[in-house]
Formats: sequence, structure tokens, C-alpha cells
Amino acid sequence: MSDHTRPFKAGDHAEVFPGLGHDPYQLRGKLHEPSVCPSCGVVYTGGRWQWLPRPADAQEAACIACRRTADRLPAGYLTIDGDFAAQHQVEIIDLLRRDETRTRAQHPMKRIMSIESNGGATLVQVTDVHYTRDLGEALKSAFQGTLDIKYSRDQDLARVHWRR
Ligand SMILES: [Zn+2]
Repeated sequence: MSDHTRPFKAGDHAEVFPGLGHDPYQLRGKLHEPSVCPSCGVVYTGGRWQWLPRPADAQEAACIACRRTADRLPAGYLTIDGDFAAQHQVEIIDLLRRDETRTRAQHPMKRIMSIESNGGATLVQVTDVHYTRDLGEALKSAFQGTLDIKYSRDQDLARVHWRR
């Protein structure tokens, strides 16, 4: 059996596409330009997603952020806990929401997918690895506390924990 016909095994594409990691959302075929996301209306042109009026010749293609949201497959998890966090949950969530509104206007793929509270703890699912870290850093700079950031080996998943 040659290399081209052997069955696919998890991890194989790390060698086929060196440096691209395992992020399934980065390994798909090249998008038509321009494309428009039917869910959120963001436009793909010039090699990136941008907030622009829908071009007349656009094809439809779901953007990465909407695909992640539909698949429930975040690029990052931000966990928030501690006594202070439990007592200031409303303020904390408000800060995250305001940050997202501001960030998303500039970077359409940086979004919060969901915010779930469970007792005093909060779990935030985020569409972008770096934005998960940025949100943790925003909490630390606003409220101090302790920030712990971990990335998967291929840096396609961030687990950020902020505690105070
Ligand atoms: Zn979209």
C-alpha cells in the first residue's frame, strides 16, 4: 500500500501540512472571494473576513466563527472562579461582553460563543485561541487575581483560568 492509499490516521496531516497544526478550520479548501457568511453577514475578501457590505458577486460560505459556534467547537475555554469572581459575576460578564463588542468590530473572527454560569463559576467558550488569552488578561488587568494560560501542543486550543 502506498502512502497515498493507506487509510487516514489521526495525526497524519501534521506531517502533510507541517506548521499548520491540527486546526480543522484552517485546513479546508481555499474560499471563493468574495464570500459572505449567511449567518452573520461577514465578508471574505483579500484573504480575510471583514465587516463589509455584501458584494454583488459573493458566494455563500459559513465563516469560521459561525462554523465553530454551530459545531460547538471552541478554540478556547476561559474558566472563571473564586470568591471575588462569584461576588462580582455580573460585572465580570459585563466586562467580557463589552470587550467582545469592541473586539469583534475590528476582528470579526474573535467572538464569545457562550457564557455559562454554574454556581459561582463561569465558563466562557471563545472562537479564537489568542482572544481567549486576551479575555483572561483583560480580567487580570481590571481585577488583578491569578491567570493561568495553557495551550495544546499545536496551539490550536487554549485553556485559560482566571481566579480571584
Ligand atoms: Zn459567520
